[in-house]
Amino acid sequence: MKNLNKSCFICGATDCDGIILNGEKICKACEEKIVNTNIINPDYDIYKDRIKIILFNQHV
Ligand SMILES: [Zn+2]
Repeated sequence: MKNLNKSCFICGATDCDGIILNGEKICKACEEKIVNTNIINPDYDIYKDRIKIILFNQHV
């Protein structure tokens, strides 16, 4: 497993700590953004869609 060297699926950052979700990496910064993003924040949909792609392989 060399997933730790993957770039962040959301922001593309490399060389950062993060979690692996269904084989895709989410860096710490993005993870926190997702957790702290409110539904009324326009970014919420972006993150939500990204997570959906990761979890359900809904590539468009
Ligand atoms: Zn990121």
